[in-house]
Amino acid sequence: MVHERIKEGMLRIAAIGTHENGGTNRVFGSENFSAGQKEVLRYFEECGLETEIDTVGNVHGILRSSESDEEIWIGSHIDTVVNGGIYDGLLGVIAGAECLREIGKSGSRLKKTLHLVGTNGEEGNAMGGTFGSRAMMGLLPTEDPEYLKTGAEFGYSKEALLQASGGTEKARCYLELHIEQGPTLDTEGDQIGIVTGIVGLRRYRVTVHGVSNHSGTTMMKDRNDALVSAARVILTGDRIAKEIGNNFVETVSLLTLYPASAAVIPEKVVMTLEIRNEDEALMDRFMQWYSTEIREIADCEIEPLVSKAPVSCDESLVVMLTEICEEQKLRYRIMPSGATHDGNAMAMKMPIGMIFIPSVRGISHSPEEYTSWEDVYRGADVLYEAIRRLAL
Ligand SMILES: [Zn+2]
Repeated sequence: MVHERIKEGMLRIAAIGTHENGGTNRVFGSENFSAGQKEVLRYFEECGLETEIDTVGNVHGILRSSESDEEIWIGSHIDTVVNGGIYDGLLGVIAGAECLREIGKSGSRLKKTLHLVGTNGEEGNAMGGTFGSRAMMGLLPTEDPEYLKTGAEFGYSKEALLQASGGTEKARCYLELHIEQGPTLDTEGDQIGIVTGIVGLRRYRVTVHGVSNHSGTTMMKDRNDALVSAARVILTGDRIAKEIGNNFVETVSLLTLYPASAAVIPEKVVMTLEIRNEDEALMDRFMQWYSTEIREIADCEIEPLVSKAPVSCDESLVVMLTEICEEQKLRYRIMPSGATHDGNAMAMKMPIGMIFIPSVRGISHSPEEYTSWEDVYRGADVLYEAIRRLAL
C-alpha cells in the first residue's frame, strides 16, 4: 500500500470545509457535507471501486468477488462535528479505500466481496447520531411521525429512510479503523488499540427538592437548600463511580435552578446524570447504590432519559487483530471504546471489529485533534492485513 496516498487523500477531503483556524466542517445536512460526499465518491472511483450514494447519503464502494456474494464490510463516517479535526471518521474511510485499491491492483482472487462505506450523520444530529449506519441496519424509528417530519426537513422521505436498509444478510463482518479519541494509547505509549466493545450509555434526569425561602431572613440552621443538597448528590455520584472502578465514568451536567434568583434559596435543582461502562451489571450496581445514598441526602427523583446497551466486538476478530499486531511487532492494547461509533449500529446485524490508533493528548472533536502519519500508516497496515485474511 502506498502510505502517502492516505495522507494525500485525507488532506484532499479535509480541505472541504476547513477554516483558517484549522477546524473542519462537514456537518450533517450541510453543503460542505454534500461536497465532501461527492469527493469521497470520486475518490472511491479512482480506487477502482463500483460506487453508489444510497438514499440516506452513505457512500458505498464495492470491490466484487467473482466467487461469492458474501461481503466483508469496512467503513467509518464522512461527517464531522462543527469545527472538528481531520482524522475523526475520515481516517477509516480513506485508509479503507487505499486498502481496497491495493487489493484490487494486486489482481488477487477475492473469496469475498469487499464493501466499503463512508457513512452520513454519525455525529450527533437532528436525525440522531449514527444515522446512516442505523438506516442501513433498519434501526430508524420510521413509524414515529415526529421523526418523519424531521426527516422531511432534511429531504429524506419515509421511503428513502426505509430503502437504505437491507443487503446486510450477505455481510459477514464489519471492520473499522478509527482514532481513539481518548488519551490511553498516547499516554501508555501503545501504537494500536484492539477494541473489545463499545461502552453502553445511560442518562437520567435527577431532581433534587428543597424549600424556597428568603436568603436574608432564613438562618443557616433552618434551611433546606436544594442546591446545597444537589452539590452533595454530585459528590456522592463522583465517589461511587470511582469506587466501582473498571473504567466506570459518571458525569453530571445541565443544572437548572428553580427559582434562579440571587436573593432566593432554590427549592429545586434539575440536572442530567450520565453513566457509561462496558458492563451493564456495573451500571445497574451504580444506580442502585447511588439512588439509595442520595435519598438519604434529600428528597430526590430519578427518571431515565436515554439507554444504549453496550456493544461487544467479535471475539474471533479480536483474536485475529491480536495475531496481526504480534506478527507486526506492534505495541498494542486490548481496550473498550468510550465513544459511540457506527459499529454500535452495525453490531445489531453482524460481528464487528475495531482498530484504534493514538490521539495525541486524547483530544478529538477539535481542530487540535492530532495523530502522527506514522500512526495512521500503522493502523492502515493492520486494517489491510485484517481484510486480506478475511477475504483472500
Ligand atoms: Zn468518529
